Amino acid sequence: MSADSRRVEVHPGREAVVEFDPELTFECVDDCTWCCQHGVLLYDRDLLELAQRANLAETTTDFRGEKFVTREEKSRDEHVAEDGHACAFLREDGLCSLHLDEDWKPTRCSVFPLGVWLEGGDLHVDIRESAHEHCEGLNVSERRVIDNLEAFLPELLWDLDDPDSDREL
Ligand code: SF4
Ligand code: SF4
Repeated sequence: MSADSRRVEVHPGREAVVEFDPELTFECVDDCTWCCQHGVLLYDRDLLELAQRANLAETTTDFRGEKFVTREEKSRDEHVAEDGHACAFLREDGLCSLHLDEDWKPTRCSVFPLGVWLEGGDLHVDIRESAHEHCEGLNVSERRVIDNLEAFLPELLWDLDDPDSDREL
């Protein structure tokens, strides 16, 4: 634990070691969609949940022994990465069809712009490096991340052998 880090109880009995500035605020910016243009890792429980809502053969991809939401080529210029691809669930209007239609999204979609990893048996949390570069929602509102950690860090993260969020498609 570094000098500036602090322990926060996120869910009853579930603590995280917070490594970012406690004054950090975040509010997702409509129309940004940067984090939905890239592949999202699916934990096992996400996969079970997704199977009830979508065709896994069409919407998931295997990569290095893990499952990710498929990135697909879109026939549009907006809300796509430089290669013209984005998450299979990202609609033309920049909204997530899973979130809208099912009121659900994969764990990793909640965690961004934060990243998590295990260290010394504790779950650590910090802003992802890619978010520093690309996320438009950092420090543009009054909503302090440290006061709302339960929205970013679903409880299942504490049960995973490897919650490390540094795995990308
Ligand atoms: S599932 Fe939804 S929230 Fe997650 S990356 Fe895809 S479009 Fe974005
Ligand atoms: S990169 Fe940040 S602001 Fe942009 S869609 Fe993702 S969470 Fe929202």
